[in-house]
Amino acid sequence: MVIGAGEREVKILVHEEKCCGAGLCVMNAPQVFDQREEDGIVVLLTDNPPQDELENVRRACRICPAAAIELQE
Ligand code: SF4
Repeated sequence: MVIGAGEREVKILVHEEKCCGAGLCVMNAPQVFDQREEDGIVVLLTDNPPQDELENVRRACRICPAAAIELQE
């Protein structure tokens, strides 16, 4: 999924099969990530997050304990 990032394009991929439902991504970037109610697996909410949310997305990618978020910039 390609998201707008001002002058650049950023690609966020979430790997549901790796996600353990820890929820750190949601806590760090709630405008971009959510969790499925039934099992807590990550859901990518938007393909066009606001520019000021990008740093939060980077942090979520770094701290995800399952390495389930891939960010290509
Ligand atoms: S932080 Fe990682 S493991 Fe936790 S819900 Fe988000 S994607 Fe899944």
